[in-house]
Amino acid sequence: MSETQVDRIPGVVAGLRHGFERGITRPEAWRREMLRRLRALLVERGDDFERALHDDLGKSGTEAQLTEIGFLVSEIDHALARLHGWMRSRRVAVPLAAQPASARVVPEPLGVVLVIAPWNYPLMLALSPVIGAIAAGNAVVVKPSELAPATSRLIASIVPDALDRRAVAVVEGGVPQTTALLEERFDHIFYTGNGRVGRIVARAAAEHLTPVTLELGGKSPVYVDDTVDLAEAAKRIAWGKFMNAGQTCVAPDYVLGSARALRELGPLLAEAIHDLYGSAPQRNPDYGRIVNDAQFARLVGYLDDGEALVGGGHDEAGRFFEPTVLVGAERDSAVMRDEIFGPILPLVEVADLDDALSLVTARDKPLAAYVFSDSASVRERWERETSSGALSFGVPVLHLVVPELPFGGVGESGMGAYHGERSFRVFSHEKAVLSKPLAPDTLGATIMPPFTPQKDALVRRWLRKLL
Ligand code: NAD
Repeated sequence: MSETQVDRIPGVVAGLRHGFERGITRPEAWRREMLRRLRALLVERGDDFERALHDDLGKSGTEAQLTEIGFLVSEIDHALARLHGWMRSRRVAVPLAAQPASARVVPEPLGVVLVIAPWNYPLMLALSPVIGAIAAGNAVVVKPSELAPATSRLIASIVPDALDRRAVAVVEGGVPQTTALLEERFDHIFYTGNGRVGRIVARAAAEHLTPVTLELGGKSPVYVDDTVDLAEAAKRIAWGKFMNAGQTCVAPDYVLGSARALRELGPLLAEAIHDLYGSAPQRNPDYGRIVNDAQFARLVGYLDDGEALVGGGHDEAGRFFEPTVLVGAERDSAVMRDEIFGPILPLVEVADLDDALSLVTARDKPLAAYVFSDSASVRERWERETSSGALSFGVPVLHLVVPELPFGGVGESGMGAYHGERSFRVFSHEKAVLSKPLAPDTLGATIMPPFTPQKDALVRRWLRKLL
């Protein structure tokens, strides 16, 4: 990573504003061209992106393709196939009192937008919002995470050149650069990361009355009962938990279940982990690494909160942390208070469904909740009685790939959502356009003073219909 000089940042933003005000980004043809170029870049430079993701997170090539590069390509394809329709203005009905007139909702770009990305999916989370921003006709500045320096460098060195430097910029760096960016006026800020910095972003945005989307994290619970095939559930939970070495915002954070269900689930998780990563995950190229020493030390600390039923091994030199299943952690221990964001999965015994629901609802609203139960009433209670960004039955994480499902949190897990058409809407203003002919003079004859008895009767008749 080479840091952008802080004193250059106002100029970068001013340049983008100039580009936006000249109208470069508005035509559909420009938007399509940018999306096509970004797609080509992802495909042509796929090997370089894979290498950077491996340098930063020990990510396997296949996982990089699945969860980052391929994900972005399919998002671009989805946008290209629908962009024309998204950009169309939509006619809406005009009530009798305002007729004759026509009314339309017209999507227009917001202007210059800022995307601030985290390190865990450093390519996908930097560029996925950019797809929406460009599709909606905005100029955009991206600040990749300094904690994934290889990916940050690669994005900065090839994306603006491949797209259009007049409307797309990348600022590299950490707190000083982000702080300088946040002093500028943007038309939207899209932040992905933790809630502490989310608050800093929201405060800075308030100075300029800039709308924000905050994609945050939290502890996403899993609930299992013994009405399901627990071997299959274990496989899916282990897959969702240990991809990217547990550093996924929607990873299952902990598992709730009855003593009986958990007794059965524990060995099945061990088997599932073995099936996924073999007997020596340290030597398995499909298994990732912890991003840095600070995160590694934090995770090691959690091992004191319980007993490792599976795994627990770790090697500081390579920042390798074995897929770990933890039992016996108290509900108020650190591992059950913090978002784990690493390959440790506590199994927490609950007395019954009520106990599980009250444990979850007493806490911050999570980004996702996952339920493995064949009981319709259990599923219905989770849907009705809990609130989370997403709720999935029978599988973790996969809701991300459904473009029409809003992806975002609620409460402490964030505000706003994107993916698919929503990514376009997030970066658009819906302008209300009303058009009324000057003749006939329907207003003077009905709702304007002087209020004659006839007009009064008309108004009252009309209101009676409403009430
Ligand atoms: P991070 O440390 O990379 O920070 C994210 C961004 O904030 C970076 O670009 C960083 O430069 C910037 N930043 C850091 N400190 C700042 C400050 N003081 N002022 C201004 N900007 C600052 O990533 P992270 O926050 O550790 O990411 C992990 C968190 O993100 C987890 O909580 C995870 O759940 C969440 N997350 C959410 C999603 C989602 O889509 N909802 C996706 C991924 C991660």
